[in-house]
Amino acid sequence: MSEPETDAEGTDEALSSPTPGSEVAGDSQSDSGVLTAEPIIQSRDVNVFYGDEQALQNITMDIPEKRVTALIGPSGCGKSTFLRCINRMNDLISTARVDGELLFSDKNVYDTDVDPVALRRKIGMVFQQPNPFPKSIRDNVAYGLEIQGFDGDVDARVEEALKGAALWDEVNDRLDESGLELSGGQQHRLCIARAIAPDPEVILMDEPASALDPVATSQVEDLIADISEEYTVVIVTHNMQQAARISDKTGVFLTGGELVEFDDTQKIFENPEHQRVEDYITGKFG
Ligand code: ADP
Repeated sequence: MSEPETDAEGTDEALSSPTPGSEVAGDSQSDSGVLTAEPIIQSRDVNVFYGDEQALQNITMDIPEKRVTALIGPSGCGKSTFLRCINRMNDLISTARVDGELLFSDKNVYDTDVDPVALRRKIGMVFQQPNPFPKSIRDNVAYGLEIQGFDGDVDARVEEALKGAALWDEVNDRLDESGLELSGGQQHRLCIARAIAPDPEVILMDEPASALDPVATSQVEDLIADISEEYTVVIVTHNMQQAARISDKTGVFLTGGELVEFDDTQKIFENPEHQRVEDYITGKFG
């Protein structure tokens, strides 16, 4: 697991309304036609403060398992803060304080008996800037396995992760070369391989692909679609077209750290409940 490099009104009803279909067990068809799944992450009235400043207000949402959930909204509205809550990366920011409940598989990740390092093995993270270590391609991918004390076949797991990240064909004959030699798009996929090698359940992505050219972006987007068959993906993006293309669910954060609307992606983009969301989606502000 890598470490980080370190106005309109949303209604209470919007904040507390359950995800459509979230009460349905297993895969099924929701009213708006998107397959629904059991929630793996449930946020209940999560508030985050940096010192005296409140960055998130009463965030309540159910994130479905093995689906892609996109978090969109203007800069500074709390998307990354929320993402970091999920695997307790905010613990690393001394001024950050989180209250409310954040359940992962029905267990509050903020309970005192939860080990954040173990949690981050199950909930991996990929950052905006690919951050390969100055190590070989193989060692980059094996890094999380070492931390985990993995005693199986490391090379086989490295191969599997590189295949899962759609990078194997491009690097299998140069696994001993430095990860830093790869192109930006390849480095991104290398970081995805590193995140999936320890076999997490959830992968958090903070604006992946935002610095990539269109071809590399589309490769990363295809990869996200592929990995969501096995993993739950939560992605922060400022790119609405990207959210519309790759996600099943979308949460719209607006100023003041409010989650104004959370629903099936198609509903958010075609028929949002809130005028503010429509204005944001149609580019009237943000
Ligand atoms: P987004 O991801 O939507 O751009 P962020 O989660 O980065 O938003 O930021 C939400 C708010 O929290 C902003 O006002 C930002 O300035 C503040 N913030 C983010 N990180 C920190 C930090 N480490 N220390 C203090 N304030 C922070």
